[in-house]
Amino acid sequence: MIMGEWGAHQAEVITVHGIYRPRNTTDVVEKPAAHTIATMAPVRTHCAYCALQCAMTLTRAAATPNGSTSLQVSPLDFPTNRGGLCQKGWTAADLLDSPHRLTTPLVRNSRAEPFEPVSWDTALDVVVRGIRSIQSQHGDDAVAVFGGGGLTNEKAYQLGKFARTVLRTKNIDYNGRYCMSSAAAASNRAFGIDRGLPFPLPDLAQTGAVLVMGGNMAETMPPFMQHLAAVRARGGDVVVVDPRRTSTAEQATLHLQPRPGTDLALALGLLHVAFSDGHLDRPYLAERTRGFDEVWRIAAQWWPGRVERETGVPVADLQAAIRAIARGRSGRGAVILTARGVEQHSKGTDTVTALINLSLALGLPGRRHSGFGCVTGQGNGQGGREHGQKADQLPGYRRIDDPAAREHVAAVWGVDPADLPGPGPSAYELLDSLGTAGGPRALLVHGSNLVVSSPRGGRVSERLANLDLLVVCDPFLSETAAQADVVLPVTQWAEEDGTMTNLEGRVIRRRRATDPPEGVRSELDVLTDVAERLGHHGRFSAEPQMVFDELRRASAGGVADYAGITWERIDREGGVFWPCPSEDVPGTARLFADGFPTPDGRAAMVAVDHRPVVEDVDPEYPVYLTTGRNLQHYQSGTQTGRVPALAAALGEPYVEIHPDLAARHDLDDGVRVRVVSRRGAAVGRVRLVTSIRWDTVFMPFHWGGEQAVNQVTNPALDPVSRMPEFKVCAVRLEPVR
Ligand code: SF4
Repeated sequence: MIMGEWGAHQAEVITVHGIYRPRNTTDVVEKPAAHTIATMAPVRTHCAYCALQCAMTLTRAAATPNGSTSLQVSPLDFPTNRGGLCQKGWTAADLLDSPHRLTTPLVRNSRAEPFEPVSWDTALDVVVRGIRSIQSQHGDDAVAVFGGGGLTNEKAYQLGKFARTVLRTKNIDYNGRYCMSSAAAASNRAFGIDRGLPFPLPDLAQTGAVLVMGGNMAETMPPFMQHLAAVRARGGDVVVVDPRRTSTAEQATLHLQPRPGTDLALALGLLHVAFSDGHLDRPYLAERTRGFDEVWRIAAQWWPGRVERETGVPVADLQAAIRAIARGRSGRGAVILTARGVEQHSKGTDTVTALINLSLALGLPGRRHSGFGCVTGQGNGQGGREHGQKADQLPGYRRIDDPAAREHVAAVWGVDPADLPGPGPSAYELLDSLGTAGGPRALLVHGSNLVVSSPRGGRVSERLANLDLLVVCDPFLSETAAQADVVLPVTQWAEEDGTMTNLEGRVIRRRRATDPPEGVRSELDVLTDVAERLGHHGRFSAEPQMVFDELRRASAGGVADYAGITWERIDREGGVFWPCPSEDVPGTARLFADGFPTPDGRAAMVAVDHRPVVEDVDPEYPVYLTTGRNLQHYQSGTQTGRVPALAAALGEPYVEIHPDLAARHDLDDGVRVRVVSRRGAAVGRVRLVTSIRWDTVFMPFHWGGEQAVNQVTNPALDPVSRMPEFKVCAVRLEPVR
């Protein structure tokens, strides 16, 4: 029986703009008829998509009147979702018997030819022959690996081990680089640890004020909103900073609407106001931090009037925001949260750093019902960056250039530490080097549709075309898979066991509820088979629990220490927070109460200054473009685009434009418009809204081909995190006649 926090809370009946509904209600998506008869015990698991990892049961029912035997989804009461699911979660089971599902390996001799279905033996022979031939001609680093933030912990771990010990390549990175890398880099340098939320999500409801910087949870993870709604219900403040008046901003007590790319100036201005208005926590600064004087030297130069000129946010709003946070702090507490809106910039690390500085100056981290956190996006965005698929990391959040870390992990893997490669390039840099002189000649892709999700997608697509071998593991023929030489059909979500680590750092169980289609294999199985064929006998396992037990040993003593977490314990306790170094101690739900995991126990305040966006508007490209997600779809749309109800709800991208800007371009609501930058163009349908700034357009990134806004976005990289500048570039608008 599942114990712990599962079911420990009563679901609250809250409807937020019709987006989120609690359990036991119907949703906008048609649900199965009530007379369906369960023929399988419900399996408790978590959603296929985002980092909220809403809990649900899956039940196979007898055929409905329309003949469907899909698994039926029912939400569960869990600390993150409290009985709620969004439309994506409700319909997630439709992915399992999608007619678009790949069920046989596909191979072709040249990119000009169509795919041929082949046996697994044939397909893996092609892969192994290709790897051997390319590495013998060009060296180990000529084969690269690209992973994903949706892979289970076991798959992410096995992929990193496979790359470092079988391929012996330094060239491995993953799409989480596009998600959390700026937040991770800033948290590591300030706190000595990167766990998105250093407290359980329900703590949020207890606080008195929340500042949300660049997050739109009402669309990306709707059940999250009940935690913010609870803050407001208790008389607290929710302040949202976003260039768009999003559904989240609609529910705030205060909305600040800066020009895209100016969040860092805004953060410095907020610190300036906090200082001038007497809200700093001087004893906290003295006892728990270092570096404030240098930080203040820069923030002192960002007086409110200057910040207003740079950001467009009125001085009065800056002051009101700080008053709200200070009021909350003196009552129940205050929390500052960041998300991709401020992180996906060429200065994302510094912007998050400035907000960490603000939170430290106010004395929030480690205080009861207070703190600083980053809201993770991808399903296993947290665990995916802890166990070795990132270019500079080994399992347990160890650095690959740390001799002690190499020795520890090499011992678990049974290899010589000297044989482990060093750090490789970041995701975009890796992709941009493919097929170039001295760059990788082969790429293995797991859990990513990188053609759609990478910036300057046209260039990435060209790079893939130059490869000698592209192998893609995917349940569907994504845009990236469509360019491959070999496509391997793999299991998804409810067809596999494993663990995920949600946005709170809580390790949870993904449980198998149905058999995969005939002909489909798990990536653990595929990696094990390829390793065997390459001569690495008995060193890999296709059994997820065995892989997890090895992961525990590899992570032991690391920052992300999973040594004390077992599958049985997760089942018993309803999830276990890392770090958890021993089975005898509880997981660590709340961090920083007694200090920070830095050499001196203090948080480091790092001095950072504002700088302009890499590509500002000019007469040729006079409009800012910002991008993001929307309610119905997830990431590149490989999954949600194939769910009929979601595709019917929104089947193509839109371009949000202020009526004033639209009038200047002679654009009416509903017409098609081409958004053009120096790198490429994307087409969407005009959606006239007054909720966006007059100088900015917004486009979601869930589509490929000519609808892919990442053809347009700028790959300018953050110097620390190597995060691309997804969130702002200069474009012009052209009507599509
Ligand atoms: Fe929950 Fe995210 Fe799934 Fe929606 S997509 S049901 S918010 S986990």
